[in-house]
Amino acid sequence: MELIDGKKINAAMRLEIAEEVRKMVAEGKKRPNLAVIMVGDDGASATYVASKVKTCHEVGFESTDYQYPATATEAEILAKIEDINQNPEIDGLIVQLPLPTHISESKVIEAIDHRKDVDGFHPINTGRMAMGLPSYLPATPAGIIELLRRYNIETGGKNCVVLGRSNIVGTPISLLMSRKANPGNATVTICHSRTKNLKEVCASADILIVAIGQPEFVTADMVKPGAVVIDVGIHRMPSAETKSGFKLKGDVNFDEVAPKCSYITPVPGGVGPMTIISLLQNTLLAAQQKIY
Ligand code: NDP
Repeated sequence: MELIDGKKINAAMRLEIAEEVRKMVAEGKKRPNLAVIMVGDDGASATYVASKVKTCHEVGFESTDYQYPATATEAEILAKIEDINQNPEIDGLIVQLPLPTHISESKVIEAIDHRKDVDGFHPINTGRMAMGLPSYLPATPAGIIELLRRYNIETGGKNCVVLGRSNIVGTPISLLMSRKANPGNATVTICHSRTKNLKEVCASADILIVAIGQPEFVTADMVKPGAVVIDVGIHRMPSAETKSGFKLKGDVNFDEVAPKCSYITPVPGGVGPMTIISLLQNTLLAAQQKIY
């Protein structure tokens, strides 16, 4: 069994992106610039935003963080998005989700200029991805593809089972794994809460990608010997073993499943570190106008 080390790949990609920025600046071009809008004071969202802004600065990007109170109106947020859409200094824009319930997430996502939509959530980017056209890929699925690519894991002709069908992970990764590309060219089955014989379907997978949001759901009897297992889940679970009193766990029961696998992503340190770096990769592509 080999661990897929997302931290190591993240570190390599940071150096590559920083080198690209260095070259751009040496050629007299401006630094890539990412704008982040956050509404409300959700603790987890604030941590994610702080980490995105910090990583931007580490690779040499500019970034601007727009903080709004939870009472901000939808009109205010839409007006800020329009302002950023028109600002030629800003290459990429993300709005941290979830939003307070009085603001429509779909309206907000659709208001972002698709050429600045580095989260890859705008329907134009989603549609172009589905058609195999150049687009910004959503960060977590793009990170999974990068892990498979950099570990030279063969995906062509393999049975890939995706557990979960969310718009941000399950559905896009199933599209990417089935498209005519490498990594890709897999025969993909997508599972959800209405799937029958889930155990048997999972046990048929050469590559099992798990994004269902249920701690340690996947057990050894659901995994084929020699399978590649990608665990997207993140759960903060109470633990007597740590000082903090918490331990991060995935959607896969790692201790049981790992000995059966050829490759597996740990939690933490697998898919997680790839999400932020994929967002930065998209911002670099935006600044270099490589997609649009
Ligand atoms: P969602 O809750 O949006 O989707 C979960 C999916 O799993 C749904 O399609 C649901 O089916 C399916 N599902 C839930 N329970 C079962 C079950 N018992 N059997 C079969 N299918 C089931 O989750 P996300 O995709 O947003 O996230 C999944 C996990 O990944 C979470 O733990 C999240 O924290 C983590 N995550 C991690 C990221 C990272 O950077 N590492 C990034 C994004 C998410 P149905 O559609 O029928 O309801």
